[in-house]
Amino acid sequence: MLRGTKAPVCLPTSSSSIFRFWRIPAVRYKMSVKSKRQRCVGSSCHHGPTNTYHVSSPVGTMELVSCPRGLHYMSQTDETDEYFTPDKSIEVMVTSQKYQDNGYTYKPLLLGVDWLRHYFKGQHKCQVSPTICASVFKEGSFTAKVWKTLPEKVKFGHSVSYTQLADLSGNIKACRAVGAAMKANPIQLIIPCHRVLPEGGGVGNYSGGNKNKMKLWLLKHEGVIK
Ligand SMILES: [Zn+2]
Repeated sequence: MLRGTKAPVCLPTSSSSIFRFWRIPAVRYKMSVKSKRQRCVGSSCHHGPTNTYHVSSPVGTMELVSCPRGLHYMSQTDETDEYFTPDKSIEVMVTSQKYQDNGYTYKPLLLGVDWLRHYFKGQHKCQVSPTICASVFKEGSFTAKVWKTLPEKVKFGHSVSYTQLADLSGNIKACRAVGAAMKANPIQLIIPCHRVLPEGGGVGNYSGGNKNKMKLWLLKHEGVIK
């Protein structure tokens, strides 16, 4: 059992109470708020309540948010790489969670932690991707197409240019839209925007240019660059 703060509201314990719980926060949750963290974290989605977890990793503490159906968000908690001190000896493990787990949010989270563990050990062939909640994707949008195409077509140790990713996603002219999709990416690493590189050389910006050291580290970790 992981340690956590008791939820301020009653989390569901039976199927009938799940439905009661879902209805209330679903009304409050809006997808149109400003930052991608705010947009994707929320307190619930129509699949159920979300829970927020902090996970230690070689690149610093990661924040993962999951609802019962899948991940909503995964990113480093540090907003800049000013104090970025990667350490491969740091084990990937859950260090805290917002609410005591109620059995519904555990599976996607545990798969996410397991995915990260394999990723940082370079055991990418053993990775089983956790489900990403369908509510994260705006179905039918080009952004959703890009987010789904990238992990499918550009695997560990490979990179792609914005134009190539636009082409793979079905519209070679949509480089700018690819850039916008990368900027809005809510699931760092699993949707591997760090593998998208500028045509003109260099590694380009990561997280608005605030985490370029992290991008460089990830590309070295995967062997894309030396
Ligand atoms: Zn969800």
